[in-house]
Amino acid sequence: MYRTHNCGELRMSHIDQEVTLSGWMATSRDFGGMTFIDLRDRYGITQLVFNMDDNAELCESARKLGREFVIRVVGKVRERSNKNPNRATGDIEIEISQLEILNAAKTPPFTIEETTDGGDDLRMKYRYLDLRRKKVQDNIIFRSNLAIASRKYLAEQQFVEVETPFLIKSTPEGARDFVVPSRMNPGQFYALPQSPQTFKQILMVSGLDKYFQIVKCFRDEDLRADRQPEFTQIDCEMSFVTQDEILNTFEGLTKSLFKTTLDIELPDFPRMQYDDALRLYGSDKPDLRFEMSFVELNDVAQNKGFSVFDEAELVVGICAAQQADAYSNKDIKKLTEWMQRPQIGAKGLVYVKFGSDGSIKSSVGKFFSEDDLKVWGAKFNAKPGDLLLILSGEAEKTRKQLSDLRLEMGKRMGLMKAGDFKPLWVVDFPLLEWDEEAERFHAMHHPFTSPKKEDVPRMLTGDHDTMKSLKADAYDLVINGAEIGGGSIRIHDRALQSRNFDLLGFTKEEAENQFGFLMGAFEYGAPPHGGIAFGFDRLCAVMNGQASIRDFIAFPKNNQGKDMMIDAPSPIDQQQLNELNIDLQKEKI
Ligand code: ASP
Repeated sequence: MYRTHNCGELRMSHIDQEVTLSGWMATSRDFGGMTFIDLRDRYGITQLVFNMDDNAELCESARKLGREFVIRVVGKVRERSNKNPNRATGDIEIEISQLEILNAAKTPPFTIEETTDGGDDLRMKYRYLDLRRKKVQDNIIFRSNLAIASRKYLAEQQFVEVETPFLIKSTPEGARDFVVPSRMNPGQFYALPQSPQTFKQILMVSGLDKYFQIVKCFRDEDLRADRQPEFTQIDCEMSFVTQDEILNTFEGLTKSLFKTTLDIELPDFPRMQYDDALRLYGSDKPDLRFEMSFVELNDVAQNKGFSVFDEAELVVGICAAQQADAYSNKDIKKLTEWMQRPQIGAKGLVYVKFGSDGSIKSSVGKFFSEDDLKVWGAKFNAKPGDLLLILSGEAEKTRKQLSDLRLEMGKRMGLMKAGDFKPLWVVDFPLLEWDEEAERFHAMHHPFTSPKKEDVPRMLTGDHDTMKSLKADAYDLVINGAEIGGGSIRIHDRALQSRNFDLLGFTKEEAENQFGFLMGAFEYGAPPHGGIAFGFDRLCAVMNGQASIRDFIAFPKNNQGKDMMIDAPSPIDQQQLNELNIDLQKEKI
């Protein structure tokens, strides 16, 4: 028998019992006649004691053990004289009578502890060692618990888990496809799904009624900290539902996940119109852990002789509470430079300081009287001690810049607290987005999203400008400024779907070629339906207050899209290429 107990479970109640444990040698300490070893497994760490006086030979062997050796020991549980209150097993230790080395280990390339000395690349290459660290293991276990809790909740709501294929034809979700050559059909390729979108809609036509899947999706995009080429969604679709019913169901899922895994009760989620989110926070995924919403000043700040404001489409600002005294002119200058970096690209930054002593100072004091500035202050409901930060320019750009500033101020002021969760639904997204450069429409969500019922006639007959104003039954779940999920009510009518493809610039042939199967299915009794997908990796990260999804994925790719451990992607041999009818020489020409 390898073990009677694991390394996390022995307590005072086990005193005097003989136990067998197996695990990894984490650390070893020698004190002359005694050797102490920390034995680690997934469940915890238990202290082992080897006593020179009792068994010199055994103690010698223990001293020779290297870090990460795999061992099995037999011994008696005893009370520790020097207890460790920070460890679950800290009241006891094991007096060892037998030691067996199950496997030796090379010295690991980095320390396997809470904070490691290993750099990112090294940790990725030796991911199996990184995964031995409690912190990383806890993340993977959290993920497992979250998946199990999701399945349980959805099963209780009568969702059916259906697997959809990975070797498919392209489904446009706005990214590049990964493709797989077909050996049996030379010159032809499968695409890996960017999401199971079309399949889940087909399942609704089939009458499955409520579908879910915790599923891998593949998107060939440039990588960032919160992106991976393969990632996981909790993907769902429902028939005969309104937007409201979908939001309620998945608000229920989210609340239940927070309750079961973090023991946090979330209040009801506010619903915010997309237009309001942009107007008040400059973002379709506002972080609502703090307010600091935008106030527009066009009516009070224009036509007073300050040409920068006069020429601007929008003059808009935020009020940083009780920051006036904290920001010296030098600090404001630094903040202005921060805003002027190419990543943000603001031209300048106007401030008004309402000093706690009642003074009013502003970078545009030459153009505006104290009374003018007081009027601005009243719009923000500013108190003595508050600092107004104001931008101006083209509306869309300025809002985006102010959103960056708002988040930066929120961070500096300590308003984005870990453990504070502020979910919301952003609803009523536009259906289409006009791309100035390409001079074409893109689907704001995806091409299967339905316009709002009242907008259908305008969509079928309206002119170009009308199309820009169409609203969709599309929604996002946002938590703490991160987009956790998104979905929509779908088009279930062939003519409307065909019109949407038209607007998106597909020719009739292209639409038929790529999506004929879906439009065909719509002609055989497609029910009204809609759904949503949660980004599962991101949900894990956000629930744990972390920005990167990488540590919640057992085997992630690095920024170049590489798996450093198995060394993928990598070349394949000539025979495989021949079978696939791929001539690399020819491809190069
Ligand atoms: N397929 C969509 C996505 O991947 C989600 C949905 O519309 O249900 O974002």
